[in-house]
Amino acid sequence: MKNILSARLTALSPSETFAMAQKSNELKALGIDVINMSVGEPDFTTPDHIKEAAKKAVDDNYSFYSPVAGFPDLREAICDKLSRENSLKYTPAQIVVSGGAKQSLCNVILSIIDKGEEVIIPTPCWVSYPEMVKLAEGTTLFVYAGIGQNYKLTPRQLEEAITPATKALLLCSPSNPTGSVYTEPELAAIVRVLEKHPQVYVIADEIYEHINYIGQHVSIAQFDAIRDRVIVVNGVSKGYAMTGWRIGWIAAPQQIASACSLLQGQYTSGASSVSQRAALAAYSGDQRCVSEMRTAFERRRNLIVKQLGEIPGLKVNIPMGAFYILPDCSCYLGRSYGGKRVQTAADLSMYILEEAHVACVGGDAFGAPGCLRLSYAISDANITEAIARIKRTLEKLA
Ligand code: PMP
Ligand code: GLU
Repeated sequence: MKNILSARLTALSPSETFAMAQKSNELKALGIDVINMSVGEPDFTTPDHIKEAAKKAVDDNYSFYSPVAGFPDLREAICDKLSRENSLKYTPAQIVVSGGAKQSLCNVILSIIDKGEEVIIPTPCWVSYPEMVKLAEGTTLFVYAGIGQNYKLTPRQLEEAITPATKALLLCSPSNPTGSVYTEPELAAIVRVLEKHPQVYVIADEIYEHINYIGQHVSIAQFDAIRDRVIVVNGVSKGYAMTGWRIGWIAAPQQIASACSLLQGQYTSGASSVSQRAALAAYSGDQRCVSEMRTAFERRRNLIVKQLGEIPGLKVNIPMGAFYILPDCSCYLGRSYGGKRVQTAADLSMYILEEAHVACVGGDAFGAPGCLRLSYAISDANITEAIARIKRTLEKLA
């Protein structure tokens, strides 16, 4: 059949995280007991007071379009959150609410990146960043920050990567897929480099802000020297267990916020009205649910670090946030079992899915060859069972 798809679409790769989750669901539908550590989303249900606000919104007829950038009281509540938790002052006009942080990121990239402009992406990185840059016809400049440097970009690496064509740095902290968190001194050192390059903007993906095991989250927007060049991306998906509600937002310099609103006004309109009322309850209600979930994730982090550490040959990082771990499994590559040779981390993840019935994602999709990404947003019992299965399965490789 004739290919009718645009070059833009043909160049796009599917989301590997969703692809593995789909495979895991297919096996589950066949009655196989699969433990799913592929897609990253909290296993908790949305807190009751948030659900109640959504139910009320339905009864109160929040069935109409919202303003394109979001309801004014939600944008006000986001400004209050930024002031209360991050000591950042924004006006509601600088906030744009969208259908998830994914759309927020895509809005920003499409709004500021022109053909050929460079976006520096430290790797390992989340699978969608390079694809979004591709959509904008920008150029991606990957900078590899391996496990030996805790998967964090150094100021020197950044300095060496910046060229006159660099338009933005995409920084994710706490990070998916590594769980690394940049400390205040580390961010300060990155800011010192950026101060020398006034053309470079920072897209700060802080969607995992609340799942942080080192204490108070530090936003790169808190550094006055570059604040007018920082776009903060955040949302309710992870911290409030609201992935399916699809609410994300940006806090940005006015010109960029207005551009994102313009784009969204022609593309999707405002985010779901009912979900926005739920997000308002999340930001203005009791915050105890956030710390309770974080405590559970931290306990699971400790469990998985210990159990993976007992598997011979793995190099295990200690995540400081989010709910991912990215062990280096390269010592198992090149080995075989049952006539099948495991060459890449993607092969290894397929082998583990088929033999151990545990779904995880090969690091290749994240620019982390030789690694596996495991999401530990599952019960403690399932973590223990999954890692025991992985251990037994890796032992069979010869
Ligand atoms: N950024 C990162 C690093 C993520 O892992 C995710 C998870 N999908 C997103 C953004 C998008 O979040 P949302 O579900 O709010 O679109
Ligand atoms: N961010 C999650 C993950 O990385 C959800 C899936 C996605 O949006 O790609 O697994």
